Amino acid sequence: MSFFIEANYEGTKQNRTSFKGYHTIKDIGENIYRIAPPCRSLIALANPDYAIYNSVHFGYSVPDPLNPDRMFKKPFYCIHKVNYKTKKVEVQCPECAKIAEVKAEMDKLKAELTKEGHPEAYIKQALSPQFAWLGEHNLDRKWYGYAKNLAGEWNIFKLGHKAKLALDDRMKRTFKEDQIKGLDPASGVWFKFTKNGLKGPNALTNVEVLKEKIDMNGQKVEVVKTAPLTEADVKAIEGLGDVANVCARLTFDQINALVNSGGNPEVAKQVFALGTKVTTTSEPAATTVTTTPVPTTTGSVTVTTPAPKAPVAPKPTSQEIADMDADKFLRMFAKS
Ligand SMILES: [Zn+2]
Repeated sequence: MSFFIEANYEGTKQNRTSFKGYHTIKDIGENIYRIAPPCRSLIALANPDYAIYNSVHFGYSVPDPLNPDRMFKKPFYCIHKVNYKTKKVEVQCPECAKIAEVKAEMDKLKAELTKEGHPEAYIKQALSPQFAWLGEHNLDRKWYGYAKNLAGEWNIFKLGHKAKLALDDRMKRTFKEDQIKGLDPASGVWFKFTKNGLKGPNALTNVEVLKEKIDMNGQKVEVVKTAPLTEADVKAIEGLGDVANVCARLTFDQINALVNSGGNPEVAKQVFALGTKVTTTSEPAATTVTTTPVPTTTGSVTVTTPAPKAPVAPKPTSQEIADMDADKFLRMFAKS
């Protein structure tokens, strides 16, 4: 890129790039990724890991300020909180409550229509508004980390809970059996994800370490393909969005206002102007700088500088490493 580029004479439109979506595990084709070790805000979490679990609500949109005919989906964090020890709900989420209400309404109507002896197609048609509403109001719960594909493109990597468990298990086994640290910046590997093609509770993801054939003394030998990270990789990861801050953070009252609006875009516009993306945790060590709002967004933008490095712990012995659980093992090479 040259030092000067053409000024933007046509307003903010030119600056927009369409969102191509995150890296995900697709149903078909190759899913090969080099996953980044815990970094950026993932290090500051109570349990540092290479990914964070985000519960994201969909279902509300705001008009595009440049083209009011177009709507922008505005996802937001679910605030539902359960105390796992007491099983008590500590924070109610109005959107979750609304979803439960629509589901109950649908079940009741279905039971009534079935009792009245209506044919299945008729019942399906009668329930279609609720069905469509539930489809739009999806609660997306996924793990978010950073990964690079074989083309060298870094992006946020979104994976389901079962796929995360399968990856954790593969990493643990690869370490125990072959002493390979799957995410190590200097010697990490590529993981290959394959779905079993089934849906719902039967869906499974298989995770393998990618191997390649090399020529050794005239013989083809299969070896693990390593994926050391470079400064360019670090730069690319730094340029991505924060996985601990993927959508708006709204309060109970703000979510309640959205739910009660029945999807009114004007209400959504006001609510999302109030809700800010705030980087989680990393306190007390991190410093937070709030910049003035940028012209293209409504809320203020918060930039958090990484927390200073924690004191370095003594190196564990190889036996200690072998006995470690995956979480502890991954924390060892958390890089700030
Ligand atoms: Zn919720």
